[in-house]
Amino acid sequence: MQALRILISNDDGIFAPGIQALTTALQALGEVTVIAPDRNRSGASNSLTLSQPIRVHEVAPGRYAVSGTPADCVHLALRGLLDFQPDIVVSGINDSANMGDDTLYSGTVAAAMEGRNLGLPAVAISLASADHNPQHFETAAHAAVMVVRRLLHAQLPSDTLLNVNVPDLPLALVKGFRCTRLGMRHPGAPAIKQFDPRGKAMYWIGPAGDEADAGPDTDFHAVRAGLVSITPITMDLTRHSSLQTVADWVATLSSL
Ligand code: MN
Repeated sequence: MQALRILISNDDGIFAPGIQALTTALQALGEVTVIAPDRNRSGASNSLTLSQPIRVHEVAPGRYAVSGTPADCVHLALRGLLDFQPDIVVSGINDSANMGDDTLYSGTVAAAMEGRNLGLPAVAISLASADHNPQHFETAAHAAVMVVRRLLHAQLPSDTLLNVNVPDLPLALVKGFRCTRLGMRHPGAPAIKQFDPRGKAMYWIGPAGDEADAGPDTDFHAVRAGLVSITPITMDLTRHSSLQTVADWVATLSSL
């Protein structure tokens, strides 16, 4: 039987500890190829680099550092860089949570989403660390192996990927897995204004907001309870439940 071929990417960059832990763990399941940004591209979301060429450096056999975004990495991998078709795309392990509205900005989720867009099963894995200070990548790596192994035998809809968030705990303290929905955060903190040495104002985007909707069925709730949260997410942003309301409203618009 052909060995399982796993494509790994992330948004923290190819030299981040999380992607190294994930790579080591998934090698137990098959043949791993790593294609990841050459630097931290967290917050890149699904962006593609269209205004300049993208450089790819093979830093080791089957390990490619890319001068682009996470979505660029997976897109290039599946549209010309690799001479084979992987069986699955796994993104991570991100050094902090991607829960609730984080998923909208996350490059970790975007790399998985790009894989799913291009027809492959896909998983994003994040370690829900406190204050971006991750401790237990090995726990998330173990969870990743279990999820990937099961996903290969699952039939998920072709537009659905899995967003996995792992509590930052020793493996023995993790209580299991739970299927969740995305929660929601409060609006992010205000931007932080600073001045450069020439007196010009500059800004840092402020930290994400605290949990707002963290009810019992959410990702936030599961992780807080020591469970690995698995949320099926989809690329379709259509608010299906509002279609009729908006259609009725649109019908009242006078013609242009
Ligand atoms: Mn990141």
